[in-house]
Amino acid sequence: MNAALRLSEIHDRIAHACKLAHREPAEVTLVAVSKTHPAEAIAPLLEAGQRVFGENRVQEAQAKWPGLRERWPDAELHLVGQLQSNKAEDAARVFDCIHSLDRPNLVTALAKAFDKTGRQVPCFVQVDVGEEPQKGGCPVSELPALLALAREADIPIIGLMCVPPAEIEAAPFFAFLDKLARDHGLDGRSMGMSGDYETAIMLGATHVRVGTALFGARG
Ligand SMILES: *Cc1c(COP(=O)(O)O)cnc(C)c1O
Repeated sequence: MNAALRLSEIHDRIAHACKLAHREPAEVTLVAVSKTHPAEAIAPLLEAGQRVFGENRVQEAQAKWPGLRERWPDAELHLVGQLQSNKAEDAARVFDCIHSLDRPNLVTALAKAFDKTGRQVPCFVQVDVGEEPQKGGCPVSELPALLALAREADIPIIGLMCVPPAEIEAAPFFAFLDKLARDHGLDGRSMGMSGDYETAIMLGATHVRVGTALFGARG
């Protein structure tokens, strides 16, 4: 199946999940996670109309995207992977949205990077909903303090993001992230991947991050 067909199938599934949840498809942004896939695999999706993409490494995005952006200047690039503080400035230059703000020193580094680059990149705060620190994410107990710090630093926080534990039903974690976002007055919920984006939409996802279902397995 080619990229355009895969894309249209995912749009159909998103629309169906929205209908079941009494939501509008326009409320859900499909982030096509293109990490590890070369520019030649990404171009057909751009040709098919997809505009929002996700990468998990700053250097890979810097290498792959300038050429694609020349052809598709309205493409939007989201960082979905963990970010090292010393890469904050590069990330501010190359990404239009960051899904992985998860600790105080990254707040400081991003505030500095936004000042220096003159860019204010919207951010999701990643929450460690499954108590798996190796995946990144702010511990739930530290979320209020981190959000306060980000607001003080003028970082535009648009929502919360999570990567629930693999091999276990994700729905309770999505429901929990939705509740946390509501408690903190945040609209964005970045949750759901290839295996569970429909469930995530039913539970309030505004951004679903889909890689494998669009591009096939990563090598
Ligand atoms: C790779 C990745 C995805 C996409 O996962 P698939 O299962 O391939 O859809 C989503 N979110 C994050 C944070 C990722 O690293």
